[in-house]
Amino acid sequence: MKNVTEFVHQIIARKVNKDDLCVDMTTGNGNDTLFLAKISKFVYGFDIQQVAIDNTNQLLSSNGLSNYQLFLDSHENIDKDVSIDILKETKCFIYNLGYLPKGNKNVTTLFSSTLSSLKKVLDYLNHQSLVIIVCYPGHEKGKEEALGLVEYVRTLDHLNYEVSSYNILNQDNNPPFALIIERR
Ligand code: SAM
Repeated sequence: MKNVTEFVHQIIARKVNKDDLCVDMTTGNGNDTLFLAKISKFVYGFDIQQVAIDNTNQLLSSNGLSNYQLFLDSHENIDKDVSIDILKETKCFIYNLGYLPKGNKNVTTLFSSTLSSLKKVLDYLNHQSLVIIVCYPGHEKGKEEALGLVEYVRTLDHLNYEVSSYNILNQDNNPPFALIIERR
C-alpha cells in the first residue's frame, strides 16, 4: 500500500507533463513544489509563513530548479496574485493541509480560508484539470477542516466534477486521506 503522498504524486504524474502549469496551495517545506517543478513547466506556490517560503526556495534552488514563483500570501488571494488566464490554464492544484512539519503547530490551514480558496480554484478549473487535497484529521483543527471539506465536495455537481477519495482504512488515529476533484 502506498502512503497518501506517494499515491497523489502518482495520480499527478499521470496527468501533468512538461507543458503544464501547477499551483502548490501550501508549499510548506517544498516537497510537493519540488515534485511539481520537476514534472511540469512552471509552478506557483503559496504559504503564509516566511520560513516555509525560505525552505521551499532553498529546496528547489538546491535542486537546480528555477521554474517557479512563490507568494508569501494566503491561498485565498490566489486570484489576486496569479492572473485568471493562468488559473484557467493550470493543470493541477495541490493542497497539503495542516501545519508545517517541524514548524509552529499553531499555524495551520483552516476550514474557512481553505474553502474560500477552493471555491475560487473550482470556478477556474479547466477541463481535465485536477485539484488534490491531502487532509490531516489526526488533530482537532485538521479534523474540523477535513470533515467540512468532505461535506462541501459531496455537494459538487457530478456532471461538472468527478470527486473521489483515497483513504487508508486499516490504520488507527484518523490517518491522512486525499480528496481528488477532476473537472469533467
Ligand atoms: N506541501 C508541503 C510540503 O510538501 O512540504 C507541506 C505543507 S504543510 C502540511 C501546510 C502548510 O500550509 C504550512 O506551511 C502552513 O504555513 C501553510 N498554510 C496555512 N494556512 C495557509 C493559507 N491560508 N494559505 C497558504 N498556506 C497556508
